[in-house]
Amino acid sequence: MILHKTISTREEVEKYLRLSENEIRWFEQTEASLPFLVSTYYLSLIDPDDPHDPLRRQVIPSIEESEIQECELLDPLQEVSHSPLNRLIHRYDNRVALLVTDRCATYCRHCFRRRFTATEKSVISDKEVKEVTIYLANHKEVKEMLLTGGDPLLLSDEKLRNLITQIREKRADLTLRLCTRVLATYPMRITKELVETLVAIGSHPMFVMTQFNHPKEITTESVQSLSLFIERGFPIMNQSVLLKGVNDDVDTLEELMNLLVSHRVKPYYLFQGDLVEGSSHLRVPLEKGVEIERELRRRLSGLAMPQYALDLPHGGGKVPLNSTYLESRGEEGWVFKTLDGERRVYPSTC
Ligand SMILES: *Cc1c(COP(=O)(O)O)cnc(C)c1O
Ligand code: SF4
Repeated sequence: MILHKTISTREEVEKYLRLSENEIRWFEQTEASLPFLVSTYYLSLIDPDDPHDPLRRQVIPSIEESEIQECELLDPLQEVSHSPLNRLIHRYDNRVALLVTDRCATYCRHCFRRRFTATEKSVISDKEVKEVTIYLANHKEVKEMLLTGGDPLLLSDEKLRNLITQIREKRADLTLRLCTRVLATYPMRITKELVETLVAIGSHPMFVMTQFNHPKEITTESVQSLSLFIERGFPIMNQSVLLKGVNDDVDTLEELMNLLVSHRVKPYYLFQGDLVEGSSHLRVPLEKGVEIERELRRRLSGLAMPQYALDLPHGGGKVPLNSTYLESRGEEGWVFKTLDGERRVYPSTC
């Protein structure tokens, strides 16, 4: 595996760019739930002279993260209560998500899983893998499995090979999704050897799920890495997060989605920001999100158009943001009916 160069301290980051008042204040406090870590590759994409650089906002922390809103939770999707096993989330009958490691190549300030990410949970153990494979063997209703975290590509090729081989021994039929942000934050992680290994151990059918949030993240390096996957039969789907000051305008998203399609990546979801602690400065109001969605739908082809979706508060699950699920709009917020027929309220301002 190619050496992963990262920086994690104020001193190091100050060699690249001048921190703002709010950024300095984050480094001076000690109670952050999500540590600072960025790859030197991703940092090099940031314009040091632009305090509002859209990539900077995604990775350089600000003291605004300490402003926790009443509607925010550490585990807004209630993943813990939907976990039959350590690291295994079974929220929907036919698919599960496995938290392979808590590490990422770069930590995103908008991370909705900060109850887990970078919390010293480390890499899945052999014992845990064993338990998961037994669970899969006993739950044939599960048709898809998301390998996620953290970022599963922070595992060595060897560890990843062991994990997938053991899953395949029990369930050759399972469709796998490799959910990773390294194509945006550390594309050198994708090597010919890695891709060949994945093919050789029978990973297919496997989809690669990426998270590109801004056109500036699509570089020569990331395009090369995307091609390595595509040429060996891995379809690629992108899940963007709608982020204030990053991509909350139609022109930016239009350019991003068209660029993705031109590199053979299907825009899959555009996520409304989850109500996770310390992310209000990055969240876009629903009202604006819906407006953006409507205009995007007008400008983009069906192929380039992602599904605008949100995870309903208190583990209500994912729903596409369209009128079918919207019951009413009132003082307390927008009222939705979950797929289970329950009622959930998303506040109009938070
Ligand atoms: C989002 C999610 C999935 C996958 O949902 P799709 O709509 O099929 O992409 C699976 N499990 C969990 C826990 C999720 O949050
Ligand atoms: S890559 Fe994913 S898990 Fe890691 S910090 Fe970013 S959003 Fe969170």
